[in-house]
Amino acid sequence: MGSESELPEHVRPAGGGGTLLARIEGHDALVFCSNDYLGLRGDVRVVAGGVAAAERYGAGSGSSRLIAGSLPIHRALEEAIADWMGTEAALVFPSGYQANIALLGALVERGDLLVSDSLNHASIIDGARLAHGRRFVVTHGDPSALRRGLAKPGKTRFAVLEGLYSMDGDRGAVADWLDATRAAGAHLLVDEAHAIGVFGPEGRGVAAEQGLGDACLARVGTFGKSFGSHGAFVACSSVLRDLIVNRGRTYIFTTGLPPFSAGAALAALQILRSAEGDERRARLKRSSRRLRAALNHARLDVLGDEDSPIVPVVLGSEEAALRCSEELLRKRVFATAIRPPTVAPGTCRVRFTLSSEHSDEMVDAVVAAIAG
Ligand code: PMP
Repeated sequence: MGSESELPEHVRPAGGGGTLLARIEGHDALVFCSNDYLGLRGDVRVVAGGVAAAERYGAGSGSSRLIAGSLPIHRALEEAIADWMGTEAALVFPSGYQANIALLGALVERGDLLVSDSLNHASIIDGARLAHGRRFVVTHGDPSALRRGLAKPGKTRFAVLEGLYSMDGDRGAVADWLDATRAAGAHLLVDEAHAIGVFGPEGRGVAAEQGLGDACLARVGTFGKSFGSHGAFVACSSVLRDLIVNRGRTYIFTTGLPPFSAGAALAALQILRSAEGDERRARLKRSSRRLRAALNHARLDVLGDEDSPIVPVVLGSEEAALRCSEELLRKRVFATAIRPPTVAPGTCRVRFTLSSEHSDEMVDAVVAAIAG
């Protein structure tokens, strides 16, 4: 079979849709498990932004940001991010993993308390382990556990949650967490990795969607998802930025973000902030609702908020999730099985993630593949 003939005509991506296809075991499949929510990974403007930056500043940044690796493109990107997020400052990192570790390591000192949601990403868990304060993990979605956690002693107390949970597809309860942290005299940190680009005005994330962006001590975003590039940022005050620059080990002891990634992120940011960004977000939400409604109609165990582009279908055992993913692949739909340690035993799932560039026909092809 030739690659073009493997997918029925009506679900084949139109021009420029190359990132919606993956070649797996000799066959083309529709990608429904990438974090490229706005379809910008293959966008010619984003790629051109990266290429122009690499041509101007080089393939790599040459050293740690604190030695010779701080380039004008980093500063330009940080200013653009701060302007967009409405913060005094921003600091960019080679990855979101490093951003969380640097932020928590710089901020949480001996004698401090860090309250963390039980479904937080591995980078937050590892950041909390490397930080010097005491950790307290609260069950996801349990407000009383949160209040109990925040009542624990600590010189300075922090709480950290995600804007959009990557494996369950639900928004973090930012308003509840903010109320609880305020009542306890604590500070709130939000990892918006999956929400950036997707939710909120100009795609600024869930805290911004709820009008609470300014109330957060820091918000983390990544360039590897909606931006279609690679890297991450912390949006915060100038004082906190300086603290991370001086104390954040995964900022200090690593080579700076490559110019390509920074240039691509700058180009993507322009799209995120434009009317086109709004259109992409609207298409993404429409597809998310369409897929979730059809899967619910088929009586599958679907998690997440109805407009969320993360659409997990819980299948239980590892075998069931793997079998479902293999069956989908046979039907030319690529969606991986998610198993422990990423999710709890017995809650293995196939997690679909949508792109604004998936057509209705492609979404319907997924439904037919899993429920048909
Ligand atoms: N935070 C969250 C919530 C994530 O889901 C991820 C990656 N999936 C990261 C941070 C890490 O980002 P990166 O891939 O840029 O290291």
